[in-house]
Amino acid sequence: MRLIIAFIICMIVNVISVEIPPADYFDEDIENESCPEVERAEDEEDLVLIDGDILVTKEQAAIYYESGWDGLVNSQNWMKLNSLNEWSKTIPHEIDQQFVSATGGDDKSIKSNIFLSLKALQDKTCLKFPQKRCSDPYYLSFVKGDSCSTYLGKPFAGARVINLKANCAAGTDRKMTPAHEVMHALGRAHEHQRADRNRYVTIAYWNTCNSQMTIKEGFRTFNQPYDYYSIMHYSPKQCQYYSYTSLAYQDSMTFTSQLKGSSSDVGQRGSLSPGDIQHIKRVYCPSVY
Ligand SMILES: [Zn+2]
Repeated sequence: MRLIIAFIICMIVNVISVEIPPADYFDEDIENESCPEVERAEDEEDLVLIDGDILVTKEQAAIYYESGWDGLVNSQNWMKLNSLNEWSKTIPHEIDQQFVSATGGDDKSIKSNIFLSLKALQDKTCLKFPQKRCSDPYYLSFVKGDSCSTYLGKPFAGARVINLKANCAAGTDRKMTPAHEVMHALGRAHEHQRADRNRYVTIAYWNTCNSQMTIKEGFRTFNQPYDYYSIMHYSPKQCQYYSYTSLAYQDSMTFTSQLKGSSSDVGQRGSLSPGDIQHIKRVYCPSVY
């Protein structure tokens, strides 16, 4: 009986805990604010997905395919893109009504994970994520998409769209998937694509998402140690071996890590790692670092 009561209390606490939005999320004035239609500076349909979940313009993608990440980083396009440092510490956001009004299912789970991600980023760094006002020139926009993806860095104007889909953003083990995408929007690349990653992980040649495994020389690490537990690291079971005999992905390990001890948390999406927090502080909160 005691076990049943404990289980019920645990469930109630769990439901309550995932329902709490960031403190300043709900604001009557903002909720009732009806913004005039604004022409987008970028046509999101013209964007191209690279490295699995990073959107760039067609022009930038052409440079990327021609000369890789280094070519893009060293290009004029990147210089424009790299105005990512210009996000202020206050980054407004809006959430798709489909998520906001969800009362159950995957959409509600994604809504909870957006709240939990923003709350974690707010609580542990100097960044604030208030609800968007009409006058905000730049903001994050969480929408329902065909993948979990976003564009790298700050937009030239308007919304930095973050696409979220159930298979990658719903569920209690994916609480920080929205934070992963927000960190791309803040300018951070994947941890396992660091220039020094071969000292820490060995990637199987047969991995099925090679472009998401390439090393990015231009990726800033701020001399931080390699972080297996970053939410920006892939799981060893992502990009698994595909068998053309059985026409199915096989239960296989894409990464072999030099990590001592358990590697079960490598690629986790449950909480920000200390390294994730430090990375944001180095870029956005130097005065409190
Ligand atoms: Zn990513």
